[in-house]
Amino acid sequence: MGIYEEREKEQKEFEEKYGHPMHYIHIPCKGCGRVRVELWTSEKKICEKCHLNQDTMEYEPVQY
Ligand SMILES: [Zn+2]
Repeated sequence: MGIYEEREKEQKEFEEKYGHPMHYIHIPCKGCGRVRVELWTSEKKICEKCHLNQDTMEYEPVQY
C-alpha cells in the first residue's frame, strides 16, 4: 500500500469514529480553560486548542 492510500485509509477510519466538528459549544475547556470546545457529529466534545475530550478527559488525536 502506498503512502497516499495509507493516509486516505487513516483519514477514513478517523471520520468513521469521530465524524466532523459541527460547532462550538460555549463552555470552557476542562483542560485549558479556553472556550474552544467543539461538538462533533459523533457527539464527542473536543477542545480545538488542546484536544481534550471533555467527557472522557482523554486527549484525542485530532488534526487541525
Ligand atoms: Zn482545551
